[in-house]
Amino acid sequence: METLEKNICQSCGMPMLQLADFGWNGDGSINTEYCQYCYKNGAFTDGDITLEEKISKNIAMAQKMGMSRASATDLAVTTLPNLKRWGKKKEQRKSGSRIKK
Ligand SMILES: [Zn+2]
Repeated sequence: METLEKNICQSCGMPMLQLADFGWNGDGSINTEYCQYCYKNGAFTDGDITLEEKISKNIAMAQKMGMSRASATDLAVTTLPNLKRWGKKKEQRKSGSRIKK
């Protein structure tokens, strides 16, 4: 049995509930890891984007969908860095290690 319930896009965190939500590979097959907005025809639609840019893009999009800026920010900064697309860069920022005066 397959469940689509827990599929979220590994680039933007969007829940993918139906086949139409998924991205697709170059050969037309469904890519189950990324959504249609992030991944089309075997490539990211925003290939050069950084995690930070993606986060602000996501916040803007969530706000358009009616979310408050605070919740949108909270959601994006907690979700996106844990996704597969961004996970390979392990930038761990320790608090207190970046004190500049
Ligand atoms: Zn996505």
